[in-house]
Amino acid sequence: MAKLISGKEVSARVKAEVKAECDRLKEKGITPGLAVIIVGNDPASRVYVNNKKKACAEVGFVSEEYALPESTTEEQLLELVDELNKKDTIHGILCQLPLPSHLDEKAVINAISPEKDVDAFHPSNVGKIMIGDYTFLPCTPAGVMEMIHFSGIEVSGKNCVVIGRSNIVGKPMAMLLLHENGTVTICHSRTKNLKEICSQADILVAAVGRPNFVTADMVKDGAVVLDVGINRLKSGKLCGDVDFEAVEKKASYITPVPGGVGPMTIAMLMKNTLSAAKAANGIE
Ligand code: NDP
Repeated sequence: MAKLISGKEVSARVKAEVKAECDRLKEKGITPGLAVIIVGNDPASRVYVNNKKKACAEVGFVSEEYALPESTTEEQLLELVDELNKKDTIHGILCQLPLPSHLDEKAVINAISPEKDVDAFHPSNVGKIMIGDYTFLPCTPAGVMEMIHFSGIEVSGKNCVVIGRSNIVGKPMAMLLLHENGTVTICHSRTKNLKEICSQADILVAAVGRPNFVTADMVKDGAVVLDVGINRLKSGKLCGDVDFEAVEKKASYITPVPGGVGPMTIAMLMKNTLSAAKAANGIE
């Protein structure tokens, strides 16, 4: 039976570390500040934004929410980003995605100052991740790595398979595993022999967005299985991409959904905002 890697436990530890550092910064008169922009009325986005604000309060950051109506124009949104780029008390800016379809996500991401881009979506930060010389890591893949480290799992030399190649999760996830000397395969919707490839994985990361996509016959005995997926079933219940009940019998480690990678993403956002506040004040 697999050992459970609890995102609640690991994220609590990360947040406690961030809070302790935040307290030290406050003694120097610096309070990290995160601005969160939300456009429109997407209920899932509202939940994410509320959770981010709650996490800011927990670690002692200032958070500012900018809730804009669905009718916001790109010009208005870019003006707000520009203002926040210039605002000294704000160290991190994030624009909750997805944006309403009339707004260009790329233009907004590109407008956020790379120094305040705590989601690490700006092309300049993406490039830095590629060459392994970065200030911010994208929150979800960084959260997965944190869980791997917390559990004492060695990546070097392991066969790592990432299912999914999005810019937000799959690609940076693969890059972080590569930086730790994993032998990495990225799978996607055109991959042939997916089952065969996955069943060779020592470390398997699922970031597909389909409930129960990873079945036990795709998993090697003793593999580490990290489930990034968040899917809402018709019943309203949340589940990941992995058939948890069957796979936990084969894996050595597994992350649950909920309570796995999800809480890590927010904890890593706090860590990035702290890093941004330190960098803005010339603190190593
Ligand atoms: P995307 O939809 O952007 O990417 C999904 C990926 O899965 C694509 O690369 C796609 O391939 C691949 N895929 C789809 N179908 C198949 C298939 N049949 N076989 C193999 N690969 C397939 O999603 P995201 O990366 O943004 O998110 C993935 C999941 O992670 C979602 O459930 C999302 O909700 C969750 N998520 C969770 C977070 C957290 O905090 N825990 C944060 C971010 C996301 P192709 O490129 O060929 O289309």
